[in-house]
Amino acid sequence: MGDPYRGRLAPSPTGFLHLGHARTFWLAQQRAQLFGGTLIFRDDDLDQSRTRAVFAEAQLDDLRWFGLQWSEGPDIGGPHGPYRQSQRLTLYTDAFHRLRDDGWIYPCFCSRKDIQAAVSAPHASDDEPIYPGTCRPTERRVVCSSARPAHWRFRVPDGESCSFIDAAFGKVERVAGRDFGDFVVWRQDGVPSYQLACIMDDVGMQISEVVRGADLLLSTLRQQLLAKALGLRPPTYFHCPLWCDENGVRLAKRHAAMSLRSLREAGWTPEELRARPEFIEPIGPLGPMGPCVVFPN
Ligand code: GLU
Repeated sequence: MGDPYRGRLAPSPTGFLHLGHARTFWLAQQRAQLFGGTLIFRDDDLDQSRTRAVFAEAQLDDLRWFGLQWSEGPDIGGPHGPYRQSQRLTLYTDAFHRLRDDGWIYPCFCSRKDIQAAVSAPHASDDEPIYPGTCRPTERRVVCSSARPAHWRFRVPDGESCSFIDAAFGKVERVAGRDFGDFVVWRQDGVPSYQLACIMDDVGMQISEVVRGADLLLSTLRQQLLAKALGLRPPTYFHCPLWCDENGVRLAKRHAAMSLRSLREAGWTPEELRARPEFIEPIGPLGPMGPCVVFPN
């Protein structure tokens, strides 16, 4: 017998959730049911400048309305709480100290603009440009502090092939330093990055499988490198193809008409939404290779 299946829903309260989120989360619920497991709700409200209490309330309410059920979360508690990232900073700070004291990260003084300018073109359609290495020490070494405020970047093993077996896409393999570069784990303003918080929470909440959008495939490789550096066992992954609008543009929170809130107000029922062809077809029975696949290269 392996570990019990524990899946998670981890929305960020930066806007109203749309039907694309609901589709991914519905699949997460189906996977949890298939394996006789449970779902955990996590509120990814790390970036306090972009999150709003009204959206945090709405995401719980809209997903419950849609038919999702979780057995641990910010609204009901549970043994692995708190379930809001803004309340888990101690965990991330400890991880940051361990990474720093073991020489995995280095201070970086580049601004986002510097980083953009130093790279001729964004490398992947939906991902950050490769960091050109301006602040990277020539060798891996322990740097414990910085005289001025800095971001802290993880040093990826250049030239090393990184891979994992995705339950939907199969083997995903990319080369560190070529397909993705040194990434930020800690921001200059004292906020941990999504990458660090996410892996610490997935491991800390004993998530066995992460179901999320295919736009995060590269992030999975980053999170696995963090897990390895910290001596943690990462979960397994199931990445869903992304849902695009009629122009091939990925659905985003700005597609207001597709928000669960407005669909709900327009009189749709969850059953009717789940019966819509675009809800079912791109996923298929559990096979993801539908017409709307966006696969970052
Ligand atoms: N809060 C993140 C988002 O909404 C979650 C990403 C993930 O599932 O890891 O994009």
